Amino acid sequence: MSATIIDGRAIAARVRAGVAGEVETFKRETGRVPGLATVLVGEDPASAVYVGGKQRACLEAGMAPFDRRLAADASFEEVAAQLEGLNADTAVSGVLLQLPVPEHLDGNALTSMVAADKDVDGLTPVNAGLLSLGRPGLRPCTPSGVMELLADTGVRLEGAEAVVVGRSNLFGKPMAQMLLAESATVTVCHSRTRDLREVCARADILIAAVGRPRLIQRDFVKAGAVVIDVGMNRLTPEQAANSSGLVGDVDFAAVVEVASAITPVPGGVGPLTIAFLLRNTLQAARYQAELETMLAEVDREF
Ligand code: NAP
Repeated sequence: MSATIIDGRAIAARVRAGVAGEVETFKRETGRVPGLATVLVGEDPASAVYVGGKQRACLEAGMAPFDRRLAADASFEEVAAQLEGLNADTAVSGVLLQLPVPEHLDGNALTSMVAADKDVDGLTPVNAGLLSLGRPGLRPCTPSGVMELLADTGVRLEGAEAVVVGRSNLFGKPMAQMLLAESATVTVCHSRTRDLREVCARADILIAAVGRPRLIQRDFVKAGAVVIDVGMNRLTPEQAANSSGLVGDVDFAAVVEVASAITPVPGGVGPLTIAFLLRNTLQAARYQAELETMLAEVDREF
């Protein structure tokens, strides 16, 4: 058997086209333009590439990008002041602090300063809490993207055994919550899990977000399972040889023979992250527009 290869680029393109259409309607109806602000501290080349991609995607979707950059030695107070300014700016619907920040800064504390209604990464305590309570809020982009991939592939979640490898706040924990909300039976694994292979082999849906090249081998995967590879590991130029230089957490060449569907790296989960950042920015803009209308009505009334 050879698995269906889930085409993340095509699915992300559909999501982005849908968002762009909805942005046009939103602008016509409200006279407002959704705006996404990215804040980059320092000159990490990979982070600069990610921020550039987000800025371009924002323009392509008809939104306004705000590109804020601070020096690598910026103080906590300087970054905090930047975030507070963006929180207060009505032209900005969403605010994203590019992680990781330089070591002398507390990334968690800074992320928590983003206003909850502009937290398009879904990482503030308010949005994490809303997700865990099953209430509406802004959800982290990558697990939202995985839910879209699963839906597009027609995977039935109700009652399915789902195993998530990785328990980060950015991905593993919100992923588990989203699967649970759809009534999957969820197990979360991490570096202290006993017999990872055995736990993974139970999964109907196996999701790996570890950051260890090809950790998930063929014998970790039940025949017919759906395998989602979130890992993005950069190879050295010698290791990369003729490949893209990116490799996932799953041994793709071996697992493709046993799974029923699998995401490649690159071209699987990655493209969905930006697509859902755009969707979140539109959601934030809608929320702020509704709030403004409601407040204006209250003002007229009294
Ligand atoms: P992270 O914060 O470093 O978390 C890694 C998780 O993997 C931790 O929970 C860790 O366990 C667990 N782990 C480490 N070694 C393990 C092992 N040998 N067996 C089982 N579990 C192990 O990473 P992250 O931010 O979640 O990202 C994970 C990967 O996904 C990275 O490659 C990252 O680049 C990629 N990623 C991709 C996207 C995208 O857009 N495609 C977005 C986010 C992340 P402990 O908690 O016990 O330490």
